[in-house]
Amino acid sequence: MTRRVSIFGATGSIGQNTIDLIARNPDAYDVVALTGASNIDLLARDAIRLGADVAVTADETQLDALREALRGSGVEAAAGQSAMTEAGCRPADWVMSAIVGAAGLAPSICALQQGATLALANKESLVCAGALILETAKAHDARLLPVDSEHSAVFQALVGEDMSAVERIIITASGGAFRDWPIEKLASATIAEASAHPNWDMGQRITIDSASMFNKALEIIETHEYFGVAPDQIEVLVHPESLIHAMVGFRDGALMAHVGPPDMRHAIGYALHWPTRQSLPVARLDLAEIGALTFRAPDEDRWPALRLAREVMERGGLSGAVFNAAKETALDGFIGGALSFPAMAEVVEIVLNETDPGHIDAPMTLDNVMVVDHISRQAARKAIEQRAG
Ligand code: NAD
Ligand code: MG
Repeated sequence: MTRRVSIFGATGSIGQNTIDLIARNPDAYDVVALTGASNIDLLARDAIRLGADVAVTADETQLDALREALRGSGVEAAAGQSAMTEAGCRPADWVMSAIVGAAGLAPSICALQQGATLALANKESLVCAGALILETAKAHDARLLPVDSEHSAVFQALVGEDMSAVERIIITASGGAFRDWPIEKLASATIAEASAHPNWDMGQRITIDSASMFNKALEIIETHEYFGVAPDQIEVLVHPESLIHAMVGFRDGALMAHVGPPDMRHAIGYALHWPTRQSLPVARLDLAEIGALTFRAPDEDRWPALRLAREVMERGGLSGAVFNAAKETALDGFIGGALSFPAMAEVVEIVLNETDPGHIDAPMTLDNVMVVDHISRQAARKAIEQRAG
C-alpha cells in the first residue's frame, strides 16, 4: 500500500535528506505536498520527479516563477503563508515538518489536525508551543515522532521502557565551531567561521546555533516538552565526536546510549519506517578504527544559551515563544552584521527579561503564540538598534 507523504521545508537540508530516502523507493509513496521558500528550481524539480500534487513556496513574489518551472507537469503551484497552511491541511499519512523557525508551526498544527503522523524536525514548534502541539496530536489521534538526532536517540532508547524508571536524559553536543576557541576571541567571530560545523552538514541557521549552543538550548526545552521530564533531569554533555547522540539514565544506574554516524538519514528513516526498522543508506561505524570517544562538561560562560533555556523552562507559559523569536531575530542580526556573536545571547536575555508577564501567561493558542512571536521579534530588533546607537 502506498503512503501519502508531504514534506514541509523540502528544499532544505532535512527536506533533501528525506527526499533522498523517499526517492529510493518511489512506488511506496504518493507525494502530496512539497514546500520551500526561495529555491524555486529545486522545489519544482523535486515536485516533478516525485509527482507531487502541489508545490508551495512561502514567497508570494515567486508564484509566477514556480508556475513557469512547473508548466506542463501537472503539479499545482501555490504561494504564501495561507497556501503553506493549506498544504498542511491536505490529507496525508506521514508529514515531515522541516521548515526552519517558528514559520513551521502553523502547517504542523494543521497536519496534526488531519490525524497525520508528524515527523518533527522543526524543534521550534515544540519550543514555542509544546503543550499546543501535544494536545492537538492527542485530540486528533495523530502520532508525533521526533527527528532531531538526540530526541530520536532518546525515543529509541525508551522503546519498551517505563518513563517512571527514567532518572535522567543526557543529550550530547559537539560544541560547534567555537568549542576550543578562547572565549575572548568570540567577539570577533565571523559568519563564515560560525557556519563551519565540525561534524554535521546542516542548514546555515542551525549550524550557527550549534556554535552558540542556542540549538542545544532549544533541544533542552524540546526534551522537556516531548518527553515530559523535569528540567533538572536533563543534562547536556559535550561530546566532540558526535557519535553518541543521547543517553537515557534509568533508576537502576544503567545508561542506554544511542550510537551512530552523524547522518540525519538515520533519524529521518527511523521516523519514516517506525515502528519497524528498515535498511538505511548510512555508514556503519567501525569502533575499533574510531578508537576513543571523549566527553566534557559544558561551560555556561562560553554558552550562556544553556542557562537561558533553564530560565525559560522555569518561567513556562509562552516564554519559549519569546525565547525562540528573540533568538531568530538575534541570529538575523548576526548574519546581517548588526550583532557580534556573543551579543546574540545578550539580546535574547534582554527580551526575556523585559517581556510583559501578561503575554507570557496568556493561554497557549496558535494566535497567542503568533502574537508573542511578533512582539518578541520587535523587542529584539529594538534591542539590536539600541546597541548599534
Ligand atoms: P534549512 O535552512 O536547510 O532548510 C529550511 C527549509 O525551510 C527550506 O526548505 C526553506 O525553503 C524553508 N523555509 C525557510 N524559511 C521559511 C519560511 N519563512 N516559511 C516557509 N518555509 C521556509 O534548514 P534545516 O537545517 O533543514 O533545518 C530544518 C529544521 O530541522 C529546523 O527546525 C532545524 O532546527 C531542524 N533540524 C535540522 C537538522 C539538520 O541536520 N539540518 C538536524 C536536526 C534538526
Ligand atoms: Mg539535534
